[in-house]
Amino acid sequence: MPIQRLPPQLISQIAAGEVIERPASVIKELIENSIDAGAQRVQVDLEQGGMRLIRVADDGSGIARDELPLALSRHATSKVAGLRDLEALQTLGFRGEALPSIASVARLVLTSAVAGERSGWRLAGDGSDEFAEVAPAAHPRGTTVEVRDLFFNVPARRKFLRTERTEYLHCEDVVRTHAAVRPDIAFELRHNGRTVLDLPAVGAAAAAGRVAALLGEEFLRHAFEVEEESSGLRLCGWLGAPTHSRSQADQQHFFVNGRPVRDRVLSAAVRRSYRDVLYQARHPVFVLFLDLDPATVDVNAHPAKHEVRFRDGRLVHDFVFRALHRALADLRPGDGSVGSE
Ligand code: ADP
Ligand code: MG
Repeated sequence: MPIQRLPPQLISQIAAGEVIERPASVIKELIENSIDAGAQRVQVDLEQGGMRLIRVADDGSGIARDELPLALSRHATSKVAGLRDLEALQTLGFRGEALPSIASVARLVLTSAVAGERSGWRLAGDGSDEFAEVAPAAHPRGTTVEVRDLFFNVPARRKFLRTERTEYLHCEDVVRTHAAVRPDIAFELRHNGRTVLDLPAVGAAAAAGRVAALLGEEFLRHAFEVEEESSGLRLCGWLGAPTHSRSQADQQHFFVNGRPVRDRVLSAAVRRSYRDVLYQARHPVFVLFLDLDPATVDVNAHPAKHEVRFRDGRLVHDFVFRALHRALADLRPGDGSVGSE
């Protein structure tokens, strides 16, 4: 085959391959957009575990009529204009790839209205790179994205989807995770017409409630609270008691500047701080929020944005380790180190 340029739709589908793995990944991207738009309320509606329908509605800034086609274009974003912005990123999004990627592997309808407009506008795509004309549509200020029949045009991907129940649980997990880091935003989740989560916005003082919604009341009752701040780094959250450890590292939530991440530096610091109170084969349960100067952390490390690179990994590791070690200091080696599930 001679060298040839890939058609735009295929480029988007390849990009989608990196970030859109299942309905839950669509929800993650859409919720991130709602949060970036300053939404105070995010409503998620699902049918059949999100495989048939995902609808995320927010009351954020909305998208102006002229910009609707841009929102669905590759590498188009309102969040960064230059390298400087990328290096001091305050938003969760920056790649300008989520909406076009989703639009290339599903039927997508984007409806939005900005403040001061009497009506909203909608733009629909059918999985190809041809979009219908922008048409008027009733919508309060904010944005609704509807995604139907995910992977209907990518059978190889569709085959990897699991049962409705499994896909649904992944979706629910994404909503709970984002709700935990933004208690100031109201979240609602409905599945097949039934309300599953209804979390009104609460102040920072009641943030623990969102953590309980993520990891359970029982976790919180026995958890150790962490709060530590030094040299521009701030860590807060809850560490599970060793008696609440698990055989798998499946209930560990780390957020860096409001972004759920998996990170080796952070995992190593947690493991080390639990070393004296937990058997090696056991994994602690925790939710930790680390905030630091965006200029000292590179979030552009993975297309799905769940990995970060710290400019000074050593500093971050030592800070986190010290904070956790102090929080766990009252526990004696061997105390309750046999976990229960
Ligand atoms: P990114 O978030 O990386 O900028 P996306 O493809 O997710 O890329 O979104 C493209 C653009 O569409 C965003 O930069 C933003 O301007 C706009 N947008 C997407 N979702 C929303 C929303 N819920 N509210 C307001 N604007 C949105
Ligand atoms: Mg985005």
